[in-house]
Amino acid sequence: MRRQRPTLIAVSTLIAITLTTAAPAPANAAPPDQVTALTAHQADGYTTLAWQPVDGATDYQIERTPVEANGTPAGAPTIVGIWRPNRQINQQAPTFADAGYNPGDTFQWRVRARTGTTEQPYSDPVTATTTAPWGNPTTPGEQLRTGWETTHAAQYTSDTDEYAYTAAIDALSDRVRVVELGRTVQNRPINMMVIGHPTPAATPEAVAATAPVAINCNVHGNEPGDREACLIMARQLAFSTDPRITDLLSHTTVLIVPTINGDGRANNTRGNSTGQDLNRDYSLIRQPETTAYIKMVRDYRPVAGYDGHEFGNSRAGDLPMLPPRHQNVAQPIFDQSQDMIEGHMYAKGAEAGWWACPYGCEGGGNVGLSEETILRNTLGLKNVTNSLLELRSSGGQTRPDEGNTANNRRRKTYSALWTFHQFLDYHRADRADILKARSEAIESQAANTGRLVFRGSRPIPAHPAPHPGDSPPPLDAPPADLILDNPPCAYKLTDAQYNGARTDGPGGVGTTVAQRIAAHGWKVITIGDDHYVPLNQPERGLIPLLLDGKGVEKLTDGERIYPTLTGRRNGPLAVTGFTCADDATINGPVTVRAGAALVTTATTISGPLTATGAAGILLADSTVNGPVRIAATDTISIIDATIAGPVDLSGNTTGTDAPVLAGTTIRGPLNCTGNNPTPHNLGIANTVHGPRTTQCAAL
Ligand SMILES: [Zn+2]
Repeated sequence: MRRQRPTLIAVSTLIAITLTTAAPAPANAAPPDQVTALTAHQADGYTTLAWQPVDGATDYQIERTPVEANGTPAGAPTIVGIWRPNRQINQQAPTFADAGYNPGDTFQWRVRARTGTTEQPYSDPVTATTTAPWGNPTTPGEQLRTGWETTHAAQYTSDTDEYAYTAAIDALSDRVRVVELGRTVQNRPINMMVIGHPTPAATPEAVAATAPVAINCNVHGNEPGDREACLIMARQLAFSTDPRITDLLSHTTVLIVPTINGDGRANNTRGNSTGQDLNRDYSLIRQPETTAYIKMVRDYRPVAGYDGHEFGNSRAGDLPMLPPRHQNVAQPIFDQSQDMIEGHMYAKGAEAGWWACPYGCEGGGNVGLSEETILRNTLGLKNVTNSLLELRSSGGQTRPDEGNTANNRRRKTYSALWTFHQFLDYHRADRADILKARSEAIESQAANTGRLVFRGSRPIPAHPAPHPGDSPPPLDAPPADLILDNPPCAYKLTDAQYNGARTDGPGGVGTTVAQRIAAHGWKVITIGDDHYVPLNQPERGLIPLLLDGKGVEKLTDGERIYPTLTGRRNGPLAVTGFTCADDATINGPVTVRAGAALVTTATTISGPLTATGAAGILLADSTVNGPVRIAATDTISIIDATIAGPVDLSGNTTGTDAPVLAGTTIRGPLNCTGNNPTPHNLGIANTVHGPRTTQCAAL
């Protein structure tokens, strides 16, 4: 772009000269370098200014003047914004989201181009009254305000204010249910608002069936801008009669966790009260706060997410974003997350005037890497389309008026509010693609193929052409010693590893590996004193990071167990102990003996498969040309299988961990009786050609 500018200036000058020579302009025409067609569109906490670009302009200055309702100036004009070409992907229609004023006040705006340091004439002014804080002050529910709103951004909403505000929303809106996910180290409630229309689904499993979205608003206690946006948005979702809102809430459930780190927020610290950075703990879950969030993800199964932060780099865009980029994240989840960020947020940001960009953005440092301890990556490894959201802490070079603290805070919060609403719109419009990406990701993870990477990221491109480009986050390629080309079938943990006392966690009172695996929702097969965690599961990319000796931040050194059954085998097979089949063809009936387990990938069984009192049956990416009967078995997962049928799951008492039957084709009847808990399908429907009975009627 820079190299082209002299040409553009020359052309525009030439046009101006030609016009002047050939036909003198009318006396009232705008000078050629004056910004024209300035408009000011009012939105929620911000104003989108748009104008006709001026040929040869290097940048634009946005001036704002407070005025009385009658248009009389009520204060000094101030340059509040600098539009630069790297603000947006669409260079032909410049926009700037002006924010950082008291919503509801009236202003006049003017915009002028600069060519180098030369200031061109200002545009004609535009005067408008901005949009007041959402909610009619006399309508119950709508009239609620946060502490941040009532103090005009002088104070952040306190913990007690938050609890009172969310309880009031809960009491006044049928759409909202507030649930306590857990308690912080200092015993503060960790609340989540479950929001649906006309009412939210009644149980976590029922919410999961609505393909919910989750917003984690405040993990770093000293980055509170997103939390205020979440609290405002909760009020809008709870009480708005806007058809867009009721439509959104009729098609999904919105899960908002305003403050996962209540202790850190109360003390304005990055970490929790023990000093732990919680956004380096979502895989290890050593802390009660991260444990609460991960159990929520297990039980409510959000399909998309945002994680709110602030970023102290004055050269960054308004809204740096980043997908889960750990290389063990399934490709469809990475692609869908990038589509949300680059396909949706960059384009919508260019319309609204917000500057969304890749995290890092111009010398951002060693940020946005592959630690699976970061929620962005943890969620990706749990097959959730998601993004990090950063709010640039300071006004930076493009918002020179933000020395005013309240104005700075308003810009951050209202830009987050814009992002979260866009997130809901994206989910509404692209729900089918998000669900397709999720089911493809779960099936590819459960197939357990391809290398495992213990640390290492996918590359992130610079801001797309024709944008001049921001520097993307570092490449972060995996080093050779953190790649395992030959994935095992499972990890075997000793009873000491699995159930032994641990010293990590607050006060040295750590939960056991067994408890953490249960919080993640992974299936475990126990045979005698040995505990096997198979990799043919939806979170295959995360399991080795915690259980393999090569894990950079691991829980334990599990023993890699490789398949013992491969290739072709003829005749009846009686499975004893822990048996793993991969890329096998078994011609003959298979019987899994009591207390034994069968784990398969890419395997075909020709004949009936029968298990009674088995320790576990986990089939993925496999075929059974015959009936399947599984009874009184402890651990069951069937993902992306093809079964001739009939299939019968009966009397399986699997503790708290429901049998999974997902993405499977059954060419016969499916009967499920007396299983506890009831089997579920992870949101991936099965194709059943015969009748489905009782517990499997909805699978
Ligand atoms: Zn942060």
